[in-house]
Formats: sequence, C-alpha cells, structure tokens
Amino acid sequence: MISKKMEAMVKNSSAIRAMFEEGNRMAAEFGPENVYDFSLGNPNVPAPDGVKKAILALLEEEDPVVLHGYTNSNAGYEDVRQCVAEDLNERFGTSFSARNITMTVGAAGGLNVILKALLNPGDEVITFAPYFGEYRSYTDNYDGVLVEISPNIEDFQPKLEEFREKITQKTKAVIVNTPNNPTGVVYSEETIRKMAAILEEKQKEFKTEIYLISDEPYRELVYDGTEVPYLTKYYANTIVGYSYSKSLSLPGERIGYLVIPDEAADSGRLLDAVNVANRILGFVNAPTLQQKLIAKCIHEKTDVSYYDRNRKVLYEGLQKLGFQCIKPQGAFYLFVKSPVEAEKQFVEAAKKHHILIVPGSSFGCPGFVRMAYCVSYETIVNALPKFAKLAKEYPQLQSCACRQ
Ligand code: PLP
Repeated sequence: MISKKMEAMVKNSSAIRAMFEEGNRMAAEFGPENVYDFSLGNPNVPAPDGVKKAILALLEEEDPVVLHGYTNSNAGYEDVRQCVAEDLNERFGTSFSARNITMTVGAAGGLNVILKALLNPGDEVITFAPYFGEYRSYTDNYDGVLVEISPNIEDFQPKLEEFREKITQKTKAVIVNTPNNPTGVVYSEETIRKMAAILEEKQKEFKTEIYLISDEPYRELVYDGTEVPYLTKYYANTIVGYSYSKSLSLPGERIGYLVIPDEAADSGRLLDAVNVANRILGFVNAPTLQQKLIAKCIHEKTDVSYYDRNRKVLYEGLQKLGFQCIKPQGAFYLFVKSPVEAEKQFVEAAKKHHILIVPGSSFGCPGFVRMAYCVSYETIVNALPKFAKLAKEYPQLQSCACRQ
C-alpha cells in the first residue's frame, strides 16, 4: 500500500497527468500538427549551438572518470561555482564567491534542498497566487504548511497588505517567482522594496528570521527591456534558486544552483545543511557533465526573440477575439481570463478544438487559464483560427471593449 500522503498527491497530480495523456492520445488520433498543446512549459527553442559544441568538447577533453563521476563536493565543483559567482557579480554588482553557490538538480532540486534545510514541521511558507503548483508539494515534503496570498487579478503584483497580515511567528520562508509562472509578470522594484520592508518589520516584531526564496528560472526570459531586480540586494535573508531549464533550454538535464549569500542569517550552517540535504534527498550532486557544461557556456543565451514573436502573435490574436489578459513581461506564459467563472469548463471546451490549456486553479487562481507559448510559431498561427471558433461559443466575449 502506498503512503496516505502519496495517495493524496497522486490524486491531486492526476489532472495534469490526464491532460498530458489526453494530448498524446489526441496527437495519435488527429496527428500532432492538428493538436495545439499549450499545456507544458517545455521550451521549443533548441539549446544554443554552443551547448552542443561544449558537450562534445567535454566528452573529448575530460577524463571520463571525472566527467561521469561523483562531484568531489556535494555542493559542486569549486571552479564551476566560482564561475557562476563571478558571472552574477558582473551582471548584478553582487560580491559572491564559490562558497555562496551550490549546484543543484534544477530549480526543483534547489527548492527541495533549501526547504529541507530550513523547515521544521508546521513551519509556514508564504507564496503569492497565482504560483507554480509544485510549491505546495515541495513544502509538504518537509511537513511545512503553504500559506497563499490571494491573487491581485488587476495586475498580478503581490497583495502586500494581505502579505503583512499573514506573516506569523511560524513564517519561515516566502517564495517569490519573478518573472512569474503562470502570469509572465515581473515584480517591480517598488514591490520588492515594500516586500523587503515588511519582512524586516515582521522579523523584528516576532524576533525570527524569515528567508525570502527567489525562484527564478525565467530571469533571462524578459521582453521590451524589462529589468528584473536581483533580490539579494534588497533583503539580506534572500536565497536565490536558479535553473538552466528555460534559459538554456535544458529542462531534461536537471541543472541549476542556489545562492546563499554571506549576509543571510546563519549562512554558514545553512550552507552545510544544504550540502547535506543535496546528498540525503538522493540528488547526491548536480550532474557533473552538466556542471562543467555550465562553466563553459556561462555567456550563452537562448533566443528570446523566438518567444517574443510567439508572445506578440498569441497575445494580439487573443485580444482581437475578445479574450482578456495582461501582456506578459517575461517567461513564456499567457494567463488568460476564462470567459466563464468555472474555468475547467472552458478548458474542456478548448479541448474540443484540440487546444490544450491548464486551468488557473492548478496555480491557486481559478477563473483563469494558462497558455504556454514556448511552442512552435506554426502551432500558434494554426491555433488562432481554432481559438476564433472557440470564442464564438462565448458571446460575452463579443462585447469586450478590447475586441478590434
Ligand atoms: N519554478 C518554476 C516557477 C517553474 O516554472 C519550474 C518549471 O517549470 C520550476 C521551478 C522547476 O524547474 P526545473 O526544471 O529547473 O526544476
């Protein structure tokens, strides 16, 4: 018999799995070109050429015993961590060194490691809806309690008054994700400053340390020159979780890192704890080949213009049809208001047109749906007439002011 905890998790994750299976079934029945799958955040842009070259060079140059071996430290190779630290220092004016960087198995691995290191049972982790649904499972993995701040559906910037009210003696961490999955919103510098001030105030009030975990796999995926504030500069107890899954299109390679600045409370012991957590959670170390790849490809960039083109065409196409959504500033998701309150009905209706999208309730924000536009340009262009047919089923969209 599986555990009670897993029973609940399997039940909850069945919606996304069902959609995935439905997508495969539809592709087999109607042909993949006739299915418009906007459900997954799996980049359609190939990794930059430099990545392939670097992997081939590593296979040629490196001692295979080293390249395929355990890393000499669970935190990762010192030279790789130093390289990451120097790159951050150059870009954000920080002063990290190898010591502050722990290489992880993607952002998911990093988040699990930091939460394992921080949480006592019953500790609270605050996050802002809409949020990446896995935060709930990651928190629950360590018997923490996820506390949601309700969504601000005007502009999806966090509701700071509610945030202030929900911080308690038990608040151990706050997870923010900017650029955001599922909205594409980037939290403004003003928002970050205010959030930092609230955290300082509450730390004093409760005489606790509250860690701000910045989950930022989409940092580099921004449009129209949008700046993404580097959070360690605004609040000392900030931990950064990064991933190359999206920024270099390497989601299957499972590589990322955590930044634990010296300024963070108890940083020495936290670094030790993270090192051990990486091992005992079974990650052991981030994959050696991928670590060495990152050092070689530190200046490589994905083709953001590809996503930008998709963003514009999908956003403008949907707007014309009367759908409402805010223009994303980053990431590769559009968070669209469902024309009916029960957005799962809308998701089902879209499926009839072979369009696969994810209900907002998976992100703690019912009434909306997420569309991942990290698909081929053709998928978007070919999907728009299907969206047009779908829109006809909702006369209330016709009267929308933004319809052109
Ligand atoms: N955090 C957010 C907000 C994400 O959207 C994702 C993946 O989609 C992750 C974390 C996990 O990323 P990784 O592949 O690096 O584990």
